[in-house]
Amino acid sequence: MEQHFRDTWAEVSLAAIAHNVQAVKRLYDKKKVEVIAVVKANGYGHGALQVAETALQAGASYLAVALLEEAIQLREAGIKAPILVLGRVSPKYAGLAAEQKISLTVFQKEWLEEAPSYIGPNRTISIHVKFDTGMGRIGMRTKEEAAAFFEYAKEQKAITIEGIYTHFATADELDLGYYEQQHKRFCEMVSWLEEWNVPPPLLHTGNSAAGMRFPEKAFDLFRLGISMYGLTPSPAIKAQLPVELKPAFSLKCRLVQVKKLPAGEAISYGATYRTTGEEWIGTLPIGYADGWLRYHSQRVGEVLVNGKRAPFVGRICMDQCMIRLPGPVEEGTVVTLIGKDGDDEITMDEVAARLETINYEIPCVISERVPRIYI
Ligand SMILES: *Cc1c(COP(=O)(O)O)cnc(C)c1O
Repeated sequence: MEQHFRDTWAEVSLAAIAHNVQAVKRLYDKKKVEVIAVVKANGYGHGALQVAETALQAGASYLAVALLEEAIQLREAGIKAPILVLGRVSPKYAGLAAEQKISLTVFQKEWLEEAPSYIGPNRTISIHVKFDTGMGRIGMRTKEEAAAFFEYAKEQKAITIEGIYTHFATADELDLGYYEQQHKRFCEMVSWLEEWNVPPPLLHTGNSAAGMRFPEKAFDLFRLGISMYGLTPSPAIKAQLPVELKPAFSLKCRLVQVKKLPAGEAISYGATYRTTGEEWIGTLPIGYADGWLRYHSQRVGEVLVNGKRAPFVGRICMDQCMIRLPGPVEEGTVVTLIGKDGDDEITMDEVAARLETINYEIPCVISERVPRIYI
């Protein structure tokens, strides 16, 4: 465990993560559908290893990451569960993936042609084939492409097709038209396999939104990302979700200085903020190098101090920023930037709205400089 000296930290509740996995799994009591816990990008900033271990214990059976690097880190930390890399990995590293028993996402015949020479004898790599049913990101789209791909794959002893999957673009929207179109396309694409005498492997389509909203449309697995962390895929469907999610991430620091200033004093770079009367100003040891972006003060962001709201004032610096306190507060008092304090809560959704983005982005950009404390 590395040492931390700073007065800024993120708290990650592993109990909340376990609760979320179990609550979502309960939607599948009547149907055998396994959970792939998505821990890419360091577990959406929560800590990939800790989240992976917790999710597996809570009943997830598979892990997914974006990069081969992320998969190898989990293997090196002793994770034995199956791991799928969701992004494209060069065929050059097929041997490495095979050795580490890491499944890769593949959607190009050229990949199949190149990979075997890197895998070596007596080894197989397991792959999940990606269909692009309308996300427009990665995957095969046409029957011709898929025919050539599966014909070639059949001949390859070193390659095992373990799964086929797709990804939805709008499963978190109220209008379900496009989601249904993608689902239909996937079913149609899977039906081609019969013609080619390819036995259907594991099939998966859903992300958090689809997995929670449409359990009846799930296949063998679904990929649980954002909601494992207790966050709603989009504010639009919040009221519809059949699961009570518990947010796992909070962000805190301690006031390093508190001072009383007279009217007309400037705060921070550019002296853009001036006190309008006598004001109590507190300094927080967090800034944009921690991922606490300068936007937070431009968009009237607030924090919680002793259960009360306090706004950022002046520009956010690289390592520090200032808030206007409701009154005198002791130095060392804990300030909540994300999370609950007393009866109030600053949700990830509030912070995301402030930055005109989605909740997914917020914990991801809180930099590694901010220690994650597991509770
Ligand atoms: C990130 C990702 C997921 C998880 O999506 P959530 O909305 O976070 O549940 C699932 N599938 C793929 C392919 C992804 O890239």
